[in-house]
This record gives sequence, structure tokens and C-alpha cells, in this order.
Amino acid sequence: MNRVPDSTAGTTSYHRPIRVFSDFDGTISLPDVGATLFNHFAGQRNYGTVRLWMEGRISSRECLTRECTYITASREEMVAKLNQIEVRTGFNQFLELLNSNAIPLHIVSDGLDFYINAFLDKSGLHNLDVYSNRACFIHQRLYPVFPYFDKGCGFCGTCKGERMESLSKDGELKVFIGDGYSDRCALGVADLVFARADLAKLCREKEIDYLSFNDFLEIADYFKRNLLQ
Ligand SMILES: [Mg+2]
Ligand SMILES: [Zn+2]
Repeated sequence: MNRVPDSTAGTTSYHRPIRVFSDFDGTISLPDVGATLFNHFAGQRNYGTVRLWMEGRISSRECLTRECTYITASREEMVAKLNQIEVRTGFNQFLELLNSNAIPLHIVSDGLDFYINAFLDKSGLHNLDVYSNRACFIHQRLYPVFPYFDKGCGFCGTCKGERMESLSKDGELKVFIGDGYSDRCALGVADLVFARADLAKLCREKEIDYLSFNDFLEIADYFKRNLLQ
């Protein structure tokens, strides 16, 4: 297990093992798969719903549940749309770095498993550890299921803060990588945050320290320079 300097303690003599958590939509995928699918297949009926969620007036669970009711496309039609979406630069190299240093990675998402798994498969990314909401297709309708909801904060469908607490071991350095408002609960748990877009904005508003990034090569570089020596 790799050890890292505990910079928070102001000393390099104490080391901690690392565990990495990454958001999926808009972080590993480029752009956001869920938003792309709902925007396309809900015919813009989801826009008002997403606005209510961003204003904190409905929960993530309620937002996703409403968005799913607007969908009449089949799973196959939606999966075909994934061909237009790419993996953010450097993710493969970052995975290799984590693997070669025996650092665990968990993907934590408030999106839906069917498109996450289909996207990872078509991108040749296998055997990743993913936690998300689940999709049920019944008679061409899409229903979300929330297996982690009861453990979480009551607002998120899958609460990233809860997943991180539950998957971490005492003393580990918890690294979080994300880009949006659905990552908010991770901020209270992570020791080190890589943020971009709306998550970076949220960090600034809440005066939470973060490192900005454009791609995973930059994050890998940070790990090599600061955490893996
Ligand atoms: Mg995201
Ligand atoms: Zn939460």
C-alpha cells in the first residue's frame, strides 16, 4: 500500500494510504452522459426540473425520478447516443498509475447504472468499482431505483459523502475528483478535492480548498509529484 505525506499535519514523517473517489458524468465522461441523454430524449422537458434541483428546491432523487418520466426512448436508443461521448484525456494513464501503486478507485455517481456501464464497456474500461442509482426498463419506460438512498443524506439519490465514509478505512487520505453540484456531499468528507466547473464554483463559495484540473494527466502528475514519493 502506498503511503503519502500528511500535508495537513504539516509534516512529511507521517504517511497515510490513499483511496480515490471519482464522479462519472462530466468528470470521466466528456460531456456529462446523463445530461446529454436527458436533454436529448426528454425533449427539453427536463430543463425546468433540473433548474429546481440546482436551486435546491427538489432533491436529486426527485429530480432524477421526474426526468425519467419524460423518457420514452428504449435502452438501445439511449446507448447508441453514447458513441458521441468520450473519456476525459488521461483517464487510462491515471488508472494505470493507481493500479501500479495499489491505490483503490471507486466511481461514485448520482446517475444511472445502465449508461455508466455501457459507456465504460464501449470505452474498454472494465472491472471498475461503480456505485450509482439503478435503471429499470419496464415496457419501454425508465424507472430509477435508489439502492443507497436510505444510507445517505436524504437529498442525494446516491450520496457521495455517505459512499466515501462507508468505503474508506480509518486513516486513509480520501481524494475526490468531480465537476458538479451532485458532488457536494463529498466535500465534507474528502481530504483532497480536485474540482472543475460547478464543483469548483461551489468550493469557492464555501471556501473549501481544491485543486483545479482540465484532464487526468494533470491529476496523475500531481499524484507523482506530491503523493507518491
Ligand atoms: Mg459530474
Ligand atoms: Zn448527499
